[in-house]
Amino acid sequence: MQAKEIRSKFISFFEEKGHKYVPSAPMVLKNDPTLMFTNAGMNQFKDLFLCNATADYTRAVNSQKCLRVSGKHNDLEEVGIDTYHHTMFEMLGNWSFGDYFKKEAIQWAWQLLTEVYGLPKDKLYVTVFEGDESEGLKFDQEAYDFWKEFIDESRILNGNKKDNFWEMGETGPCGPCSEIHIDLRSDEEIASVPGKDLVNNDHPQVVEIWNLVFMQFDRKADGRLENLPAQHIDTGMGFERLAMALQGKKSNYDTDVFTPLIDKIAGEAGVKYGQKEETDIAIRVIVDHIRAISFAIADGTLPSNNKAGYVIRRILRRAVRYGYTFLNFDSPFLYKLVDVLADQYKGFFDELDSQRELISKVIKEEETGFLRTLDNGLKRLEQIKDKLAFQNETIIEGREVFELYDTYGFPVDLTALIARENGLTIDEAGFNSAMAEQKNRSKADAASEKGDWTEILTDSKVEFVGYDQETAESRIIKYREI
Ligand code: ATP
Ligand code: MG
Ligand code: MG
Ligand code: MG
Repeated sequence: MQAKEIRSKFISFFEEKGHKYVPSAPMVLKNDPTLMFTNAGMNQFKDLFLCNATADYTRAVNSQKCLRVSGKHNDLEEVGIDTYHHTMFEMLGNWSFGDYFKKEAIQWAWQLLTEVYGLPKDKLYVTVFEGDESEGLKFDQEAYDFWKEFIDESRILNGNKKDNFWEMGETGPCGPCSEIHIDLRSDEEIASVPGKDLVNNDHPQVVEIWNLVFMQFDRKADGRLENLPAQHIDTGMGFERLAMALQGKKSNYDTDVFTPLIDKIAGEAGVKYGQKEETDIAIRVIVDHIRAISFAIADGTLPSNNKAGYVIRRILRRAVRYGYTFLNFDSPFLYKLVDVLADQYKGFFDELDSQRELISKVIKEEETGFLRTLDNGLKRLEQIKDKLAFQNETIIEGREVFELYDTYGFPVDLTALIARENGLTIDEAGFNSAMAEQKNRSKADAASEKGDWTEILTDSKVEFVGYDQETAESRIIKYREI
């Protein structure tokens, strides 16, 4: 089953059950101070869960663009190393706002997976919240009882608060959940492992695909859990992981969601995917990151030096460096993937298609800029590495991390990543104080140079609102004071 069909089957299944299709919210949030990026399908419905708002529907279905690179849900370090965590991914979800609860959520999830998609029942596992004394939370007997109508009790596992109590962020709607996992190992492999304990124990081929959250609480700023005025259902299924399961693959990257991108980048680099671990990781990182970058730009967040824009810049530079070091790209290459991506999502996420030229131009400019300093920065890092080896030290000093940031445009996490690859670490606290010192210095400089003039427009007070004019050569960028 092709990815497109997988997505539309999910949506129509729930539409037939009275759910209203609600389009994906932008990936970059503009008006939630607790969250920078959409990290789950439920974000746009937060006020409905809290009963601060009402809608003309009580059931919804959608496919949400999510980004997990910051805050409570940050998967950046996993990406490319494993085969099922992405920075940007699609989350398929169905919701009940004070309407149905655990019974229907469980029954329909099971029906969709096993009857509509035809996944083998004996390869599925479910987890149930075991409770947590410190918060006075009980074992979820109710969910357990509904599950055992469908699945053998030996395949229902208990899960702790970390995995089975879902929270959006530090505050907000939350509740116990049941996760559905699929075992993609071959029968021989399963038979060779004694017992079933392996499941849920981070085996790369035993993967969580769907999470059914039973929204019952609101986490307050002081950490207290308060009952919500009503009970809701919030589910999230990783689209790319579901595609892996349905297409009989062992990696998200082997599905048709990613293969066109991989073919393109491998072709450009003149390498074959699947031959060498180091190159494969680089390819996975690049095809992952280009999605995050392109969708963010399409949603109005350009790479920049502050807030969400800097997160996107960091991801982009990370991708450029993987390409430069492991695939020998010394000229811009990421932007060449935009067309492939836009073609792929045409008909569902049309924002890529309608802005493809702008997106590739912005990316190409960013790549060009960073490639100018990347080589020198890497050489500087080599010197630092040699010095540390000579001194028998393993920590890169804060002021050196700052130099890499300031002179060569290396985001801290990029320096940390390269350090890790070389068995080193960085002094992050030292970096932060070097950064603070520089900020103070530039403030003092600004005050002395400008005399009466004080800076009133700091970066954090402007917001990109779009391009005014777009021609082949020029672009006038519009910012609005906020
Ligand atoms: P995991 O334990 O694998 O990190 P999670 O429990 O953090 O996943 P949830 O918050 O429950 O994930 O999100 C719902 C679903 O979204 C998951 O069941 C999974 O299928 C999918 N998902 C979560 N994080 C990612 C990611 N980084 N990339 C791709 N899919 C993801
Ligand atoms: Mg996670
Ligand atoms: Mg999980
Ligand atoms: Mg989960």
